[in-house]
Amino acid sequence: GFNCGIVGLPNVGKSTLFNALTKAGIDAENFPFCTIEPNSGIVGVPDTRLQALADIVSPEKILPATMEFVDIAGLVAGASKGEGLGNKFLANIRETDAIAHVVRCFDNDNVIHVANKVDPAADIDIINTELALADLDAVEKQLQKVVRPARSGDKEAIAAKNLLEKLQAHLDEGKPLRSLELDKDERTRMGSLHLLTTKPTMYIANVNEDGFEDNPHLDTVKNIAAAEGAIVVPICNKLESEIAELEDDEKDEFLADLGMEEAGLNRVIRAGYQLLGLQTYFTAGVKEVRAWTIPVGATAPQSAGKIHTDFEKGFIRAEVIAYDDYIQYKGEQGAKDAGKWRLEGKDYIVKDGDVVHFRFNV
Ligand code: GDP
Repeated sequence: GFNCGIVGLPNVGKSTLFNALTKAGIDAENFPFCTIEPNSGIVGVPDTRLQALADIVSPEKILPATMEFVDIAGLVAGASKGEGLGNKFLANIRETDAIAHVVRCFDNDNVIHVANKVDPAADIDIINTELALADLDAVEKQLQKVVRPARSGDKEAIAAKNLLEKLQAHLDEGKPLRSLELDKDERTRMGSLHLLTTKPTMYIANVNEDGFEDNPHLDTVKNIAAAEGAIVVPICNKLESEIAELEDDEKDEFLADLGMEEAGLNRVIRAGYQLLGLQTYFTAGVKEVRAWTIPVGATAPQSAGKIHTDFEKGFIRAEVIAYDDYIQYKGEQGAKDAGKWRLEGKDYIVKDGDVVHFRFNV
């Protein structure tokens, strides 16, 4: 599966967000370093299309796509030099596919801020600097290995050295590697280094209930994100953790009272899903209506492989109905009658929302 690591300075609201995400119920304590072990939780990806399909098919169950969030222990300045839980933090973050960077945009005198003042720009800079320093360290170690062979004319080493020097220069300017333009070959080469600042990143601006508008802290985060081409999800984690505790019917009422259409968490989950470059196809049968996760660009056999590896190996063809057609013609038979049912082969690139039935040999 794919996962998204939740990072940020201590006391910015990571655990609160994580609790809300998983209802796992770990303690959010008002102390730096309180979340020592990385915790992981699996959440369903909210998608209204599932219910629309279920209304047609009346399945026994509905299964959403899932993604994992990992709560990563607090980072402090100096982590790349091994301070605080630095090394552990960096190792944990290396294992994630994407990063949700929580930034404190709420004022509350009762909640200690590690730097004694709410300052999103400085906070973001601390984290990004530590990640960049860790990458710089890794890049310099690799460089040392290739300098000699490159000097003696080893083509492979020369290519590696050229790339590493490019990465080094970019990091030296304090920029994350995700903003560096590279060709395909360089990108593949860089991928093998598992660098931290290459990971797709979003900012979670943790605001107070009344902090969604006229909030200079939030504006600061938005400006920084815009400059990086990153997305921002403003959310009140405290409120979300309260919403997450409620039963479904209470929840709807509570949200309606607040004038919200859905829990803000849904926006976080969907943003994480998008950040990972993921999309969804559906299977719709009387047993279950289910969403499956595939990377954008996956072929039909690769998509079938998400259900079972045998489906990929023995792939014959895919019977496909686009989601909109499935809804408009009220199911498979209607779509067939309307000529909207297609047979696709092994080169077909599955599209987001496709309702698929795979044919395969066993
Ligand atoms: P972490 O160290 O980043 O995991 O931070 P926590 O999630 O433990 O939160 C630290 C403290 O801030 C807790 O007492 C939370 O209740 C509080 N907190 C978290 N989010 C908010 C928020 O949106 N508004 C306010 N006022 N307090 C919050």
